[in-house]
Amino acid sequence: MKISGDWRCRGPSLGVVANFLRIAEDESMFYLLNQTPEEFENWFAEHGFPGYRARQVQNWVFKKRAAGFDEMTDLPLALRTQLAESFRIWSAEIAAHQKAEDGSEKLLLKLHDGEGVECVLLRDDRHHCTACISTQVGCSMGCVFCATGLDGVIRNLTVGEIIEQMLQLQRLLTAEERLSNIVVMGMGEPLMNLDALMPALAAARSSVSRTANTSRATPARRLVFVVRK
Ligand code: SF4
Repeated sequence: MKISGDWRCRGPSLGVVANFLRIAEDESMFYLLNQTPEEFENWFAEHGFPGYRARQVQNWVFKKRAAGFDEMTDLPLALRTQLAESFRIWSAEIAAHQKAEDGSEKLLLKLHDGEGVECVLLRDDRHHCTACISTQVGCSMGCVFCATGLDGVIRNLTVGEIIEQMLQLQRLLTAEERLSNIVVMGMGEPLMNLDALMPALAAARSSVSRTANTSRATPARRLVFVVRK
């Protein structure tokens, strides 16, 4: 599947970027979604907070769809303040949000370096909600039917940038909905960025909410991943 739209990625080659812990535009702050659970818990230990506080924060971000630390009302105010001074939850801006009549929604995310990727939320008539995510800016595969590959690959996405797509799509769901599938069929060749993709899918498997908030929800079941073009 190719996610097409009114735009495609263009820009100078930046080279393949490895995972990085600090976001480029503000070297003093950590990008939360690029932190491993161990790294995140270490920060709490170094700052004198118990490890369960780290899991509370991850619960807010991954399951309760929180947009900022100020929403995490079961954390002490001093911790929320310190977190806001040290971490950014998001590294991308939503540059465009399109909705289709069939319930599908597409986001164009502007990344911290000005590049862009698309991700799509697909809904079907059985109340399944599928997140279709990208793994690269551009693509080196050059499939003749696809515009994404015309300029080649610009860079790999980081673990956090892949997770961020899932979380931003999850935030589009209603309270009754939950993500049931994640497909890696967006921009880029997923097998060319497995080092970032696998930890991102592992984070989704363990953290993305599998249950919705009301009794009208589709019964919880296993989160399904598809990594195939
Ligand atoms: S592998 Fe790359 S070029 Fe081929 S369809 Fe997917 S994004 Fe397009």
